[in-house]
Amino acid sequence: MNIENSKKAIEGFSRREFLVAATGAAAFFAFGGISCSPKNQKFQLPALPYPETALEPVISSNTIGFHYRKHHQGYVDNVNKFISGTAFAKMPLETIIIETAGKPERIAVFNNAAQTWNHTFYWNSLKPEGGGEPTGELKNLIAKSFGSLRVCKKELADAAITQFGSGWAWLAYNGETIEVMQTGDADNPMTQGLRPLLTIDVWEHAYYLDYQNKRADYVSAVIDKLINWEFAARNLKEVTGGVS
Ligand code: MN
Repeated sequence: MNIENSKKAIEGFSRREFLVAATGAAAFFAFGGISCSPKNQKFQLPALPYPETALEPVISSNTIGFHYRKHHQGYVDNVNKFISGTAFAKMPLETIIIETAGKPERIAVFNNAAQTWNHTFYWNSLKPEGGGEPTGELKNLIAKSFGSLRVCKKELADAAITQFGSGWAWLAYNGETIEVMQTGDADNPMTQGLRPLLTIDVWEHAYYLDYQNKRADYVSAVIDKLINWEFAARNLKEVTGGVS
């Protein structure tokens, strides 16, 4: 992660693109239920977009319960604790992530802000009866970027399976095409100037209760049965304005 490159990439956005991206992000957070309350300047744990049992049998309610109510809540509580009384307390979550990325002295704020954002994004990247195929602009851009949906899904699975240790696999939009990325720990494509479209959590807490060491089984089941292509399509549309 190189913050100077990130800043250059972000500055490289035209004003219109930046506003579209920022507005899209705001719309996403409204959708995801995350908000920065003007009263207490604290982030809230957003409601899950489905019941905790809704992703069974691919992901158990036991896993979702711990992951959402313990892990995700913990990141929200910690980011609120770390930003309290600082300039970060008045910033949107995405701004905090960009401002603290690559700064060792801000690593605790970055980790908890990014993990708060990443988990909300992950819950929305999944849905009951997901999987299948994307349509419209997303379908076309995947074909342009990867040659086929099969190759896209294979690269996404490989990124998720081969990420060493804790982290995330992503589809992200670079302004022209869609890329598969893998990031370690809390990192997120936005720190490199890319717009996340969807993600798979490959921290062990995401799958170990259900799959133990078989991360590949978790990844393939998520891609085949839970991936929310409509969510990715909405994220793409927010940043492109629907132009394919
Ligand atoms: Mn997680």
